[in-house]
Amino acid sequence: MAAYEFETHDYDVVVVGAGGAGLRATLGMAEQGLRTACVTKVFPTRSHTVAAQGGIAASLSNMGPDHWQWHMYDTVKGSDWLGDTDAMEYLAREAPKAVYELEHYGVPFSRTEEGRIYQRPFGGHTTEFGEGPAVQRTCAAADRTGHAILHTLYGQSLKNNAEFYIEYFAIDLIMSDDGACTGVVCWKLDDGTIHVFNAKMVVLATGGYGRAYFSATSAHTCTGDGGGMVARAGLPLQDMEFVQFHPTGIFGAGCLITEGARGEGGYLTNSEGERFMERYAPQYKDLAPRDYVSRSMTMEIREGRGVGPNGDHIHLNLSHLPAEALNLRLPGISESAKIFAGVDVTKEPIPVLPTVHYNMGGVPTNYWGEVLNPTAEDPNAIVPGLMAVGEAGCASVHGANRLGSNSLIDLVVFGRAAAIRAGRVVDAESAVPETNSAQVDKALDRFDGLRHAAGSTPTAELRLEMQKTMQEDAAVFRTSKTLAAGLEKMTGVAAKLDDLHVTDRSMIWNSDLMETLELTNLMPNALATIAGAEARKESRGAHAHEDFTKRDDKSWRVHTVARVDGNSVDLGYRPIIEDPLTPEKEGGIAIKKIAPKERTF
Ligand SMILES: Cc1cc2nc3c(=O)[nH]c(=O)nc-3n(C[C@H](O)[C@H](O)[C@H](O)COP(=O)(O)OP(=O)(O)OC[C@H]3O[C@@H](n4cnc5c(N)ncnc54)[C@H](O)[C@@H]3O)c2cc1C
Repeated sequence: MAAYEFETHDYDVVVVGAGGAGLRATLGMAEQGLRTACVTKVFPTRSHTVAAQGGIAASLSNMGPDHWQWHMYDTVKGSDWLGDTDAMEYLAREAPKAVYELEHYGVPFSRTEEGRIYQRPFGGHTTEFGEGPAVQRTCAAADRTGHAILHTLYGQSLKNNAEFYIEYFAIDLIMSDDGACTGVVCWKLDDGTIHVFNAKMVVLATGGYGRAYFSATSAHTCTGDGGGMVARAGLPLQDMEFVQFHPTGIFGAGCLITEGARGEGGYLTNSEGERFMERYAPQYKDLAPRDYVSRSMTMEIREGRGVGPNGDHIHLNLSHLPAEALNLRLPGISESAKIFAGVDVTKEPIPVLPTVHYNMGGVPTNYWGEVLNPTAEDPNAIVPGLMAVGEAGCASVHGANRLGSNSLIDLVVFGRAAAIRAGRVVDAESAVPETNSAQVDKALDRFDGLRHAAGSTPTAELRLEMQKTMQEDAAVFRTSKTLAAGLEKMTGVAAKLDDLHVTDRSMIWNSDLMETLELTNLMPNALATIAGAEARKESRGAHAHEDFTKRDDKSWRVHTVARVDGNSVDLGYRPIIEDPLTPEKEGGIAIKKIAPKERTF
């Protein structure tokens, strides 16, 4: 057995992750007087949320008529009828409150002439239950909205005495014998010490796993660590086959040009200079949802109308917009286009390609953020002591496809909900669970095994193999053949985790070991993604299956529940929650308004 000394810390709540979701949860917990620790592998304001550009959706009606029910309808339709209806209602209803709270905490939103929060159009956000024109619902701080939110929430958390453990890497969850979560084991990166956090509630806010793919808009730190920890604890992941490709990643570099660029009037063209989105989505054109636009772009390229010497990408045009507007509303992306594509947006189009951007799937939760472990008797059974929020979680409000600007609002609405719930279920007077030594030993044995891994495959090599397989075989369009081949290949790739070679054996700033731990987290996420995709014989949202091109509500309007053990995946299914929170006669949405129908734009 590996012998590591460790320091023990006792808290009411431990939040793992300091992105928008983790900080909003931390702040809400601390405000209520719960003793709260926030553990994060990067400095809080370097979390991927800092890169969010376009904005945060809420029906404030600052730019014209809007209603939470219209936002809810758009979210339901955006999800391609796979979201949980209670959670989608909660999101849309609580969104304005959550945004005004951010404003009062000090987020420097852009303003209208009258001094109200500025809102821009975003894909899939409409009026009159999809019958009316596009709505301006996305609240923005220029094109640096995530940056503004993250800095504000960090400052507010400090003010409320939340305690931060910065550059601590969470290795594994500590579970009790009766299936509750009681803490987390961490490695402090800068001095190599080990820390055990015991807590009455652990909140996973570890973000997405974009880095399972070769080309992604997300930060290199987005390695699905929460999903990895959950899988090793024997708990499931949900709807992992739904991976969002953002239409406008910069060709080659992969970094993002916000959908806000199209919201402000930008449009896509093919090699013939045609605004081809008018053909695919006559009503909303370039502002159709992301899965739609990404597929249309891929079709244009496939049919020989891509731009560039190899006809392998598409143009995003902004040069017709007034220079002042670009400067005021989109300064950050003008800079990104210059640096990463060598393009002056006031004169030339930006070369773009659909790029992996967001994970709709994650750790299943209810709308309070409580983690679910579905059983045959109770598909909504909760795991005591464990919550998941933000991109790591799956509440599920995004279903098969997320609308732009619905993630930032998901972070703050459900970060806040987790805190409200914890305020009710965590007893500040009760004792903190004692250290479960057997579980700590297990986590440290795994850690030690990786630290001394002496196989023949370097971490970077295996990671690349995984990323290329996912990029090729779990892409925008999928076929039975590519998925079956991809699943077989990924099963083999995952088996090579037993043959890893780690070169650096030290404990201090060992990036080789950290990347290896991250790879062991990426792998179960990637496996669940391709296994879920291979099994799902329909097309829905981001899952576009060329051999099953129609949505099949009769067989497939269900959540995929994947349990990953080593390199094998056990798939089950959980019914979606069809009922909204509020009945129509009490002011809720009319059921017939959100009944499944064909999804066109
Ligand atoms: C370029 C880009 C632009 C985007 N723009 C928008 C937008 O305009 N609007 C919108 O709604 N959405 C946008 N999104 C999506 C949205 O920003 C993300 O989904 C969201 O920020 C994720 O936030 P999070 O809090 O869940 O996780 P993150 O912000 O990714 O934070 C994860 C946190 O977990 C910590 N962590 C992870 N693993 C460990 C571990 N093992 N131990 C300790 N700590 C750990 C990290 O240190 C970090 O603090 C964008 C995404 C990208 C990539």
